[in-house]
Amino acid sequence: MTDTSNNTSHQNKMVVTRFAPSPTGLLHAGNYRTAVFSYLYARQHGGKFILRIEDTDKERSKKEYEENIMDSLNWLGLKHDEFYRQSERSELHREYLEKLIASGKAFISKETPKEPGGRTEVIRLKNPNKKVKFTDLIRGDIEVDTTDLGDFVIAKSITEPIFHFAVVVDDYTMGVTHIVRGEDHISNTPRQILIYEAIGAQYPEYAHLPLVLDAKRAKLSKRRGALAITEYRAKGFLPAALINYMSLMGWNPGTEQEIFSTNELVKAFDLSKVQKGGAIFDEKKLRWINKEHVRRIPEALFISTCTERIAQTAHAHDRSWTHIDSVIRKAKEIFHERMDTFGDLDEMVKNNELDYLFEPPQVSTDLLKWKNQTDLTIVASNLTKARECVATLPESSTKDEIKNIIMPLAEKIGRGEILWPLRVSLTGLEKSPDPFTVIEVLGTSESLKRIDSALLSLK
Ligand code: GLU
Repeated sequence: MTDTSNNTSHQNKMVVTRFAPSPTGLLHAGNYRTAVFSYLYARQHGGKFILRIEDTDKERSKKEYEENIMDSLNWLGLKHDEFYRQSERSELHREYLEKLIASGKAFISKETPKEPGGRTEVIRLKNPNKKVKFTDLIRGDIEVDTTDLGDFVIAKSITEPIFHFAVVVDDYTMGVTHIVRGEDHISNTPRQILIYEAIGAQYPEYAHLPLVLDAKRAKLSKRRGALAITEYRAKGFLPAALINYMSLMGWNPGTEQEIFSTNELVKAFDLSKVQKGGAIFDEKKLRWINKEHVRRIPEALFISTCTERIAQTAHAHDRSWTHIDSVIRKAKEIFHERMDTFGDLDEMVKNNELDYLFEPPQVSTDLLKWKNQTDLTIVASNLTKARECVATLPESSTKDEIKNIIMPLAEKIGRGEILWPLRVSLTGLEKSPDPFTVIEVLGTSESLKRIDSALLSLK
């Protein structure tokens, strides 16, 4: 029995990492987290990032899933340097199988079929029955006695390698130096190391990432409601925010900083600081991170993205709004405060929350009454007083200037008595931004018009 352990020969080579998804379904943020970590590690070492589609399971692999993977990585901006499909490498797999058989490291084994018509032959690796020891970059030293594995199967036939064999031949021939993958693959590693040794190759460094769990601490899965990356795109998330969020699933920078651009992550990310315990996927945190990224995009991009989204949803909901971009420019702060993702704009349109920005509202007289106030003449007199304040303002006034003019009155008469009917006359809504913000956005003369029509309805 001999021990094996990683040697240091990889340290002087160019770092090569890979993302090796199987196109058998839509992948979620937990799956792409592996791509993010592999990508960041490669980039920060000036290395290569490979995308390898593991499509050897012919029944379950689908072109549409492969396309979805390409589409998602492309959108996220995780550009690969090389691309392979495992199914196109079968010649190479066969060559390595033949070599192993010729050298006596593997053998064709006669089998008694378990069911009628079953296989009578498979290819097995001659297990040296030893302890395999490797140092996982995240989990530390791991030692496994491989005796229990016996002479395990590496191919069903000379043209049908099983998963472990194809993975090892591919990683080896592609020069992969660091295998970053989910913890669910840790039990595959001893077998794969024995295959490396059988083909006379140095095995790579391993980094097994903690599982990603949902709020109920179950393994995150599409079946349990996790979304595909392309679904986040449709919901108006920003790719940089998703990368930022995924990078924090199992890693933290050890500082207060939580918002990172992808370039900042390339510098700050540290594979050796990844935690061992499961990482919880927290949609709320993702939304918060997205909100922060939305705040940081250039203003012109923010306005054009909002405009496009609102124009589309407005059209679908029979609103004929014009000058959407100039309204957004003026109401920028309102939007920033109220949205986490661009998809939130759809909800705002559907819930009639934006109409007042584009057209005078229908104001219900009842809604103009503050709390227990039943006397409409008092409501009208309070609104008239508020109007007098607004009338002293120049057309374009800032929120603070507006506040400074109105607040003394509100303090004297009662905040609700003044501010509530004023706000309702401008927006027609039970809930909306404060009246100072709304007047700033609408301008003084439009605000006065709206107050006047509310006053008219109170008569
Ligand atoms: N194709 C495997 C998967 O999708 C990954 C293999 C590996 O990373 O070694 O889980």
